[in-house]
Amino acid sequence: MAFDKFKEECGLMAIYRHKEASNLCHLGLHAQQHRGQEGVGVISQVDGKFHAHKGIGLVSDNFADFDFKKLPGDVALGHVRYSTAGDQDIVNVQPLVSELSFGNVAVAHNGNLTNFDEMKEVLKKEGAIFSSNADSEIVLHLLSKEPASSPPIEALISAVTKIEGAFSLIVLFKDRIFALRDKHGFRPLSIGKIGDSYVFASETCAFGILGAKFIRDIKPGEIVELTDEGELKSYFPFGNNKSTPCIFEHVYFARPNSKIFGRQVYKTRLQMGRELAKENPVEADLVVPVPDSGVPAALGYSQESGIEFQLGLIRSHYVGRTFIEPKQSIRDFGVKIKHSPNDEIIEGKRLVLIDDSIVRGTTSKKLINMLKKAGAKEVHLMISSPPITDPCYYGIDTPEKSQLIAANKSIEEIREYLEVDSLTYLSVEGLYKSVESDVGSYCDACFTGNRPVKIKSGKKDSEQLGMFS
Ligand code: AMP
Repeated sequence: MAFDKFKEECGLMAIYRHKEASNLCHLGLHAQQHRGQEGVGVISQVDGKFHAHKGIGLVSDNFADFDFKKLPGDVALGHVRYSTAGDQDIVNVQPLVSELSFGNVAVAHNGNLTNFDEMKEVLKKEGAIFSSNADSEIVLHLLSKEPASSPPIEALISAVTKIEGAFSLIVLFKDRIFALRDKHGFRPLSIGKIGDSYVFASETCAFGILGAKFIRDIKPGEIVELTDEGELKSYFPFGNNKSTPCIFEHVYFARPNSKIFGRQVYKTRLQMGRELAKENPVEADLVVPVPDSGVPAALGYSQESGIEFQLGLIRSHYVGRTFIEPKQSIRDFGVKIKHSPNDEIIEGKRLVLIDDSIVRGTTSKKLINMLKKAGAKEVHLMISSPPITDPCYYGIDTPEKSQLIAANKSIEEIREYLEVDSLTYLSVEGLYKSVESDVGSYCDACFTGNRPVKIKSGKKDSEQLGMFS
């Protein structure tokens, strides 16, 4: 069991008082598989008793031929996660469940707690026994310290006002469910309805698959309580704070057909491509996306520039996100099996190649090599976000600075390393124009290093720069 890592990317799903709760919950997780591919868990509840099905791997791997009678009841809570190497242990697969003085309580969490290490040490000294290395377990330990006589909302407020950082949480009690976002609102969480039943999901794309109606986003700093009487109450226990939702959800992480923080992701990505074309016009024959992540921005670039859009790279859909593989050697191989050149289309052509981001540079390096070998005359690489110079400590799995190519090389050095004719990134201003917001109204720490919450857990903000090789 590995206890040294805490980074997680996740998707949450809950169905409250619907006769097919667990089945719908697994479908909602399926729609959010892109948010985490290492582990999946669904728990259901009958009279305060939980039933669980958890596994390592994809939703479809773990739920093919599954008999949903094993997850009875009309309440279900589910979670998909992925984390960094060494962490793929079933004990970390959520939802986490504990028997507390209030009865059984289940928690599912998306985000990273920035005071995790500190809180964990305090709780351990007080006698807490941790059974996972998921930072989310802190919430259960904090709840366990609350008197059994406390109304659940008071216990929850007392617990969640002690944690810091990024947390969208769903907490299930016997007769009520809570859904909340931290005061910065780093990660999304939305409310929907199927008939009279409420559903909660990290991304609205899950509602589509369930035939659920989108009701609204949970607001930054809001706790929503839904009781068995069907009453929806709202609390704001964190006080006033400037919200800074994660801009990288729009750049890469969320699914294009989701509405995140009130904006459709696809339209935003189209606009990122348009802004890129305005900022960086170039003479070329074709605009080619890196599928799938670069497709909407490439369409936007093509529309704005008038340069023809073509699929110069064909993607296999039988491999997951390249990033998901924890080891570099496997990742290198992953790029090759994931993308193939569309030789006849690109031969002799000047290409504008568009991707949403460069992290380590592995994907771009291989693809450019591939396109050149297939006869591309020129490759102008355009990235629909600014250079990633800083790791994320709020729930997106970006590597340490030493592995981030843009933290260690200038744009010209990256261009040379990637062997492209030109390399351009979208400016921070262009990025904000695409989300129609003022600069600084989102968390953009991965691009600017400006951190809305100080980091107390594990890694230091002042991390030494390592050498990129
Ligand atoms: P790299 O090969 O390390 O430069 O990774 C760049 C590719 O990974 C791009 O095609 C992105 O779409 C994708 N990507 C960016 N950030 C992430 C992330 N946090 N998790 C998974 N994939 C990512």
